[in-house]
Amino acid sequence: MIDTHAHIYDEQYMPDIEGYLAQQCAAGVSHIVVPATDATSSAHVLSLCRRFPEMCHPAFGLHPEDVGADYAEQIDLIKQLAQPAIDAGVMAAVGEIGLDYHFSTEYKREQQLALRQQVEWALSLDLPVIIHNRDSTDDCLNLLSDYTARGLRGVMHCFSGSRETAERIIQMGLYIGIGGVLTFKNSKLAWQLQGADRYKPVPLERIVLETDSPYMAPVPHRGERNESSYIRYVISKLAETYRLSEEEIEQVTDNNARQLFGF
Ligand SMILES: [Zn+2]
Repeated sequence: MIDTHAHIYDEQYMPDIEGYLAQQCAAGVSHIVVPATDATSSAHVLSLCRRFPEMCHPAFGLHPEDVGADYAEQIDLIKQLAQPAIDAGVMAAVGEIGLDYHFSTEYKREQQLALRQQVEWALSLDLPVIIHNRDSTDDCLNLLSDYTARGLRGVMHCFSGSRETAERIIQMGLYIGIGGVLTFKNSKLAWQLQGADRYKPVPLERIVLETDSPYMAPVPHRGERNESSYIRYVISKLAETYRLSEEEIEQVTDNNARQLFGF
C-alpha cells in the first residue's frame, strides 16, 4: 500500500518513529509521501526522509493556511531547505500548496500568488504538485488550468467535492486523492465516485490513496490518530464501490501513485 499524504513528522509519531514505520511496513505499507506545510516542517520532513529514504518521500511547500504577507520570503526559505533533496533527486512533489478560504480570506490574493509561484517551481523541477483546496474550488481549478498546457501534473488531495468537480480534475489530467472521508457514514463520496446523476464512474486510474495522517482516520478509527496502514479500510470501501477485489484496487492505485511520484 502507498500512502500519498501523511504528516508523520508530527509529534504524535516522532517519539517512536522507527517503531511506527516498522509497524507500517509489517502491515504492508511500502511508501509514504510526507508533505511539509511551512519552513519549520520542511526541515523536519528533510531529516525524516533522510533517515528512512526507502519508505519516506519528501514534498516541500507553503500551505495556504500558512500564507501571510511574507509568503515570498517563506517560499524562498522552503526552497533553500528543499535543495538537498532536489540535489539528491529524492524530492517527490511540491506540496502541500493550494487555496483555503475556510477560516479566512484575509490573504486570498497572497494565497493565489503563492500558489502560482509554487506551481512554477514544480514545473521548473518537473515534479507533481499536491494541492489542498477548501472552500475555494473554482478559484483553485481556474488558476491551475492556466498551467495544464505546460504539463502540470499532480493530485487534488483529500477530495470530497462533487462529481462535476471530479470531472474537471480528471479533464485537467490531475489525480484525485481519496482517504478516510470515503468511509464516513454521512459522506456522499462513494456515490459521487460511482457516477452520481448523469456521470460515469470516476476512472480508478485517476485515484491515489492517502491518509492525511494524523487527521481524517477512516471508520472504524474515526477521531483517533490516523495511520498509513488504515488505508486498507479505504481500499475495502473502494472495492465495494467499484465491485472489484481489494487486490485489484490496491494494484491499480499503487501503480497510479508510482507513476505520479516516480518511486
Ligand atoms: Zn495535509
